[in-house]
Amino acid sequence: MHFHIISLFPESVRRYLDESILGRAQQSGHIKISFYNPIDYITETSSNNLKKRVDDKPYGGGPGMVIKAQPVLAAIAKAVGRKKNVEIIHFAPRAKMFTTNEAKKIVNQYKAKKVKHMVFVCGRYEGIDSRVEKIYKGSRYSIGEYVLTGGELPALVMIDSISRQIPGVLGDPDSLEEERVAAGEYYTRPETLTYKGKKYGVPSVLLSGNHKDIDDWREKH
Ligand code: SAM
Repeated sequence: MHFHIISLFPESVRRYLDESILGRAQQSGHIKISFYNPIDYITETSSNNLKKRVDDKPYGGGPGMVIKAQPVLAAIAKAVGRKKNVEIIHFAPRAKMFTTNEAKKIVNQYKAKKVKHMVFVCGRYEGIDSRVEKIYKGSRYSIGEYVLTGGELPALVMIDSISRQIPGVLGDPDSLEEERVAAGEYYTRPETLTYKGKKYGVPSVLLSGNHKDIDDWREKH
């Protein structure tokens, strides 16, 4: 899957994507990530001065600034090019909630070769001129009922969750917690941890070797 990120702040997300499982998934070619900064695509000048600006005042008044359509449209056009099988993703705090089920649906479309490219349009400030979404129609997602500063974290959340479902990304497919009984408590060596004079043990069931009991315990925790 090729993920394309349209963002005014690409450095805020690049590091996370280059580390650990997602970094290895890029190196092995299971996923690819490209960035497009609307600032690099500005051609129009702004209303309040002749400088090339990526944002402008909102029509109808109100606080904050709105990201202009032109540079975002140009960045999306660059990402889309002549590619087929492209899914455009827009973000808003009040939109369809992104869930594991949504990630699975997207990966099923990828497996069926219906989606090979995903373009994430990350807003900032008050948001992006709404005509962008009318021109490049796609899906609109929220990652939770709270307002974030930008669409970069939502893009990261979606890319992380979708990538985990792509065959080959997790070295051991059994790691996919969504498919197994995963506990909310985890323990590793040592068996007894001493901290400030107090001893902390591991639940004895985890040392029993009885997988049925362990699964039951994990279900409860
Ligand atoms: N004025 C917008 C509103 O009330 O809907 C909020 C703008 S928010 C400060 C800036 C951008 O962050 C949004 O355009 C969207 O791209 C993104 N964003 C913020 N919260 C989000 C959430 N919970 N889920 C998905 N995207 C979010």
